[in-house]
Amino acid sequence: MNIPQRAQVVIIGAGPSGLLLGRLLDLAGIDNVILERRSPEYVLSRIRAGILEQITVDLLAKAQCDERLKAQGIPHHSVQLVHEGKPAKIDLPQYTGGRIVTAYGQTEVTKDLMDARFAGGGAAVYEAEDTRPQNFDTHDPYVEFRHGGAAHRIGCDIIVGCDGYHGPSRAAIPASAIKTYMKTYPFGWLGLLSDTPPVAREVVYINHDRGFALCSMRSHTRSRYYIQCDADDDVRRWSDEDFWTEFKKRLPVVYAETLVTGPSLEKSIAPLRSFVAEPMRFGRLLLAGDAAHVVPPTGAKGLNLAMSDIHYLHTAIIEYFADGCDSILTEYSRRALARVWKSEHFSWWLTNLTHRFNDDPFEQKMKQAEMEYLTTSEAGRRMVAENYVGLAV
Ligand SMILES: Cc1cc2nc3c(=O)[nH]c(=O)nc-3n(C[C@H](O)[C@H](O)[C@H](O)COP(=O)(O)OP(=O)(O)OC[C@H]3O[C@@H](n4cnc5c(N)ncnc54)[C@H](O)[C@@H]3O)c2cc1C
Repeated sequence: MNIPQRAQVVIIGAGPSGLLLGRLLDLAGIDNVILERRSPEYVLSRIRAGILEQITVDLLAKAQCDERLKAQGIPHHSVQLVHEGKPAKIDLPQYTGGRIVTAYGQTEVTKDLMDARFAGGGAAVYEAEDTRPQNFDTHDPYVEFRHGGAAHRIGCDIIVGCDGYHGPSRAAIPASAIKTYMKTYPFGWLGLLSDTPPVAREVVYINHDRGFALCSMRSHTRSRYYIQCDADDDVRRWSDEDFWTEFKKRLPVVYAETLVTGPSLEKSIAPLRSFVAEPMRFGRLLLAGDAAHVVPPTGAKGLNLAMSDIHYLHTAIIEYFADGCDSILTEYSRRALARVWKSEHFSWWLTNLTHRFNDDPFEQKMKQAEMEYLTTSEAGRRMVAENYVGLAV
């Protein structure tokens, strides 16, 4: 592999945010290199998000990577909230001026972007080790890494950290220059993926005495279901049968009777946390996606926030190279964070509302009253719908 020694932009991380940014910069004629710690196969094996806001669908169209999405994505015109066993459907277009969400797996989004990168011949170094952004508080930043046993260094104008929560970019910023906010939740989500038809046509959020449950999907024949579990639970403790038995107990009768079960393709426990680091710019190093913020998966905001960061960031970088105006990079951080905090709020609020926190009976009654209000009041339904389809960028 021919690794360049210089590029306008070095992107660390080939998850959805890094790949989308690379693609949009390619289309704008800005040369960039992507460095990824894992192999392409490993990146594509990670099962994560599955609901795309319209902003994400629009960005994939702009990136010319939406052919399969248009053919295989499943439009959702509503979302369901269940409490006391009763499902309530919230219409999305009615309350949002016609907007909807689309079910299409993060794995598929990543594959489409990766295929476009390979087809376009853009530089992407997979299995890069010890990647370190350097000198980014000067006008001469560079990134060091090892690949195939050799040391490499790529000089650039801008480094973008799209390397997720555990990546090296945020960690390289001096602690005195960044402020972080963190909340961890006392439970996790046990998820099971199976080749079984989804039990419902849209996503169903269930507030149950035994704990939260979620019905979601990746296609008309592939389901993704979750149940709230203990934060320190071990996935090996859960046979498929155990999962289905517990999941069924939390479903409304109408779905429990029609649920189709089958062997798991994947089963894992995800921790739940809310996290924000601000600002998202330090000198010539910019952060995007999970590198800067994490939400609990309730509300399906994680992937969509990573994509909306790239909406702001790619336009800022294009403007920066067009007129050299440095303040546009600071403006990126301000605009992205304004949207991030609102989505953080929605995810935190929906997590609190729908999960069991060993609540005292009074707290539980309060949640029931709020659920009742949300599902029966026009204002409540509008608030859920507006946030669920994604706030304007
Ligand atoms: C288990 C799990 C389940 C999730 N489920 C949902 C869900 O149901 N709904 C939802 O909306 N969101 C979900 N999310 C969140 C969503 O997947 C993320 O918000 C999204 O992946 C963020 O994209 P990203 O590109 O910013 O980061 P990532 O997808 O994390 O990509 C970061 C990339 O950087 C790479 N990297 C890390 N370190 C280095 C390094 N040293 N050098 C080079 N590369 C590096 C990683 O290998 C990775 O490919 C889930 C996340 C997890 C972890």
